[in-house]
Amino acid sequence: MMTWENRWHPLLERWVTVTSHRGSRPWSGGRVTEAPDAPWFDPSCYLCPGGERISGIKNADYTDCFVFDNDHPAFKASAPAPEPAPGIYQSARAEGLCRVLCYTPDHGGRLSGLSEDQFKAVVRCWRDQTDGLMAAAGYEHVFIFENNGEVVGVSNPHPHCQIYATPFVFHTVAQEIQAVARYRQADADNLFDAIIRSEQADGRRILVETDDCLAFVPYFAQLPYETFIVPKGSWQRLPEMPGRVLDDLALVLRAVLKMQDHLWPTPQSYILSVHQAPKSLSVDHDYRCYIRLQPMLRGPGLQKYLAGVETGGGQFLNDGSPEEKAAELSAAGLLVSKES
Ligand SMILES: [Zn+2]
Repeated sequence: MMTWENRWHPLLERWVTVTSHRGSRPWSGGRVTEAPDAPWFDPSCYLCPGGERISGIKNADYTDCFVFDNDHPAFKASAPAPEPAPGIYQSARAEGLCRVLCYTPDHGGRLSGLSEDQFKAVVRCWRDQTDGLMAAAGYEHVFIFENNGEVVGVSNPHPHCQIYATPFVFHTVAQEIQAVARYRQADADNLFDAIIRSEQADGRRILVETDDCLAFVPYFAQLPYETFIVPKGSWQRLPEMPGRVLDDLALVLRAVLKMQDHLWPTPQSYILSVHQAPKSLSVDHDYRCYIRLQPMLRGPGLQKYLAGVETGGGQFLNDGSPEEKAAELSAAGLLVSKES
């Protein structure tokens, strides 16, 4: 069935245009070739155990999660004082902290390939990093993300993510916080609960549902296989979640990543981000910690370009109907369960 309509994105308060009739349009460029299987250890890799980093520091011979401060940080306490800004402009020191988290010593591994226990350990590491950085002076917000695949510019395939702590809130999270507050004012309801109820009432876009979490391709998805993993309880940040919920979040995210990787013979490329509340957000604010997965391939080896309409105009055109893409992901999930 063709879907061709605008859909309101309640968290970003903007329209998304679903144009599923364009998904199979003639295409002669942007095919991504698969990287050859990487070895489990690469002596030249600066993320492998014992690897030498640009700073000259050698990594520990780690066996589980391994965290270190990024040698090329975008934000750092010792960033230089800014030049005075001319005219109406403003400048500020690029203060903050950037860390790298290697999920596993296995150079050729992948987040989706971690065992259940390894995956739970990664999410607990995200929790502990958030906890420590939120307790430290000078950081208002912790943003955790993984860039996965060459199409999102990853030069080192060693499975890892990044943890940024900054004295200000990143724009998308700030936007979402405002949208959630405006929704409360207008509709006297929690926007996340309203989204969960709307997805449950329809049901077609749900990928995984447990007692504590819901994973779905949102009605308002901006990308064909975009997926939200939303805990059902009102936790603003990872450290507030009980261990039971953290473990469940880990297993649901793992299941979703496996679905994404089983769509085609080649694995998906994606941006994964953990959205959580800044330190000073009022405890009774409705904002909720959740995970957003933005896959960057719209077909096997086919890169989704963010071109004029998206990048120039800020208007997303989604070539895939969220209902159909959710069905494809669920079918891929059946393949996963047959394998295991
Ligand atoms: Zn490596």
